[in-house]
Amino acid sequence: MPEYKLVSKNFDYPDQPELQAAVSRGAYEQWKRVLSEQIPPDKITEEVKTAKLRGQGGAGFPAGVKWGFVPKASRKPKYLCVNADEGEPGTFKDRKLLERDPHQMLEGIAIACYAVDIHTAFIYMRGEFYEPQRIVQQAIDDAVAAGLLGKNILDSGFDLNVIIHMGAGAYICGEETALLNSLEGWKGWPRLKPPFPAVVGAFRSPTVINNVETLSGVPHILRMGGEAFQKIGTEKDGGTKLFAVSGHVEKPGVYELTMGSSLKELIYDVCGGIKGGKKLKAVIPGGSSAPVLKPEEIDVPLEFESMAAAGTMLGSGAVIVMDETVSIPQIFMIMARFYAHESCGQCTQCREGCTWIYKISQKILAGQGKPSDIDLMLDLADNMNGKTVCPLGAAMAMPTIAFLNKFRGEFEGMMKN
Ligand code: SF4
Repeated sequence: MPEYKLVSKNFDYPDQPELQAAVSRGAYEQWKRVLSEQIPPDKITEEVKTAKLRGQGGAGFPAGVKWGFVPKASRKPKYLCVNADEGEPGTFKDRKLLERDPHQMLEGIAIACYAVDIHTAFIYMRGEFYEPQRIVQQAIDDAVAAGLLGKNILDSGFDLNVIIHMGAGAYICGEETALLNSLEGWKGWPRLKPPFPAVVGAFRSPTVINNVETLSGVPHILRMGGEAFQKIGTEKDGGTKLFAVSGHVEKPGVYELTMGSSLKELIYDVCGGIKGGKKLKAVIPGGSSAPVLKPEEIDVPLEFESMAAAGTMLGSGAVIVMDETVSIPQIFMIMARFYAHESCGQCTQCREGCTWIYKISQKILAGQGKPSDIDLMLDLADNMNGKTVCPLGAAMAMPTIAFLNKFRGEFEGMMKN
């Protein structure tokens, strides 16, 4: 069984969000060790690089490498922004980390800030996350009261202010530069890159942006050592990953697996197979923007490179399982409606392309489509793919291409001529 509990190991303790309970299970041990032993910041960054900890929000960029991009000699303040704007359809694993083990993430934040010499961390949280916001704010308050965060932490002279900033419910603010604009009080429009946030980020200052799950893994790297952490996973993807599985499986939920376990094992061994013994029709393996896989394609390792080689992506680890009863054109229309609604409108290809694809998919569902509509949608997708300011254009284009090519017959079956 590929399940391996690291960041999720305390999910089942109802009192884990409480500071004393968390401390009794080892919370802040590594943070205290960092301060008492005055571990050199560069050594921590190197350990995270050795661990091969990848960004768990979807992009998969190595966390330690990202920390290393921040200029050391900056005269401006540096910031950490925690991306807690979990909005990808199908994704619900960060919410669990925030609600079930907030001190684990806070410890990761503290260690990351120490490693990069940051004294202000923002947690940019999805606007709808009322309950996680309450739980994390309480955890921050408790940690400050215990001297683990705030001013002159444990008499070390190190200060760290952790601030929650609630979003307003826009999916696009999960894109890191839109997040920064929103944090600064502007419209959540993505910025052109370069410059990258590590150099010009929040308030035009160097900024590290890490996902909730990424930071939750940091205390474990310090506890077990980077090499041991890497060895749990694969050569390029160290440690574990949380997968949020929804749809037609017997046991949907959030599961932690070693990097490199197979998607087939996750669905059949961990989640108990397809609900009611029905046949599997399709799997979206990494959130709605990940190209769909057919049943014969799911024996693939869950790691960034292998998923890319299979023509899809690991993404945020949101696995949506669909059985034989699902109408793919209907699923596709719902997905297109989401992206048409969430496009920020800055790029013509994305603004018009998402809307056109949504309208054409509606037409097909109403039985008014024609075969040339499929090629028109593929052409629109081609014009969005990799040609826009941010990845949302590609997030619509990639699943469009996969759905239309892999299930073309089903779309054509809804057409009269
Ligand atoms: Fe906005 Fe879409 Fe362009 Fe991204 S790709 S900047 S969401 S219009």
